[in-house]
Amino acid sequence: MPNEPDLSHLINAVPGFVWSADANGEVNFINQRWCDYTGMSQEQARGQGWTASLHPDDAGGLQQYWVALMQAGTPGEYEARLRRYDGAFRWFLIRAVPQRDDTGAVVCWYGENTDIEDRKQAEEALDKVRSEMAHLARVASLGALTASIAHEVNQPLAGIVTNASTCLRMLGATPPNVDGAMETARRTIRDGNRAADVIKRLRALFARQSVMTEAVDVNEAAHEVITLLLGELRRNGVTLQVQFAKGLPAVMGNRVQLQQVILNLIINAIEAMRKAAGTARQLLVTTVLDGQHGVHLAVRDNGSGFDRQAMERMFETFYTTKESGMGIGLSISRSIIERHNGELWATLNDGQGATFHCAIPLPTASSEATADGVIKGVNG
Ligand code: ADP
Repeated sequence: MPNEPDLSHLINAVPGFVWSADANGEVNFINQRWCDYTGMSQEQARGQGWTASLHPDDAGGLQQYWVALMQAGTPGEYEARLRRYDGAFRWFLIRAVPQRDDTGAVVCWYGENTDIEDRKQAEEALDKVRSEMAHLARVASLGALTASIAHEVNQPLAGIVTNASTCLRMLGATPPNVDGAMETARRTIRDGNRAADVIKRLRALFARQSVMTEAVDVNEAAHEVITLLLGELRRNGVTLQVQFAKGLPAVMGNRVQLQQVILNLIINAIEAMRKAAGTARQLLVTTVLDGQHGVHLAVRDNGSGFDRQAMERMFETFYTTKESGMGIGLSISRSIIERHNGELWATLNDGQGATFHCAIPLPTASSEATADGVIKGVNG
């Protein structure tokens, strides 16, 4: 057992910050390394003084977490930025462990902070690459749909022209047919809104979305993607069936990214059905609330299916069996779903074709409070 001076050498030699706090969370010791880093003294750090080194954006969250941790009396960790003596901020993983007496009561806390700035920067760089890839894949898949989408917009536009000329004719008649003109004007507005809606959805999907975590209604998100794909489904003679669970709870996530996944799955299904000649093409999109997995969305086709050996390889980057395939759709989709703490997998149907499943857990009470932390770094 080292004696006390040895112990203080040891504590200051540890390549991180070491500290202790009393049962009420008041800091009563912090090592020299912390003082060297922050430029603050031991005395300044005491009690709640250390919180002056926190990044203003992290201070509230950490303090809230710290209070909750003390109530729970369990070990915990939190990522926050600490200010260096020269004003620069670095990310730290702050860990705390309670110490108990014989009766089980917490007598003090020991803590250790590790510098994770390099890891954070690597994560950010990776997120950026991922987000660029997701964007490219989205643009590529939507690019392939240009013909159907143009058709989707063209229909209401043709309606607008027809209705507007009918309207003019009715107004020019003697006597003018005002009621008829009003009705055709109303139809013109309806068609205009329909075209604007398609464009609005397209713009949202094409846009380079920022990191945004929100409550997402999966049914609504899937419905929007399907609406955009109606032309493509029709063009390929696909019969679509939709079975959405009623009252599905929202998941926390990035809406556009989740729509990107759904878009990929449906386009893949259409392509797999194109490959399987001879059968009436049937696509089934379902959502259910699954006690184990959370919100479960499945896209079932009666297409070509896949080799059993390809079951996992399909999710690898650049794996493709298509002549003009890029092989990145499923790998990006899986990384998006995993960023949402969920799972994406494929099964072969009993009959013909394959089903792709994606499950996203429901937010727990604590993850809702720190929703940013749940899918930290999700970029669109
Ligand atoms: P790409 O579509 O460019 O090939 P993906 O990553 O989306 O890239 O898909 C990888 C491969 O997974 C496809 O080439 C295909 O072999 C297989 N695959 C994807 N979806 C299906 C499906 N619904 N049915 C059968 N095979 C599929």
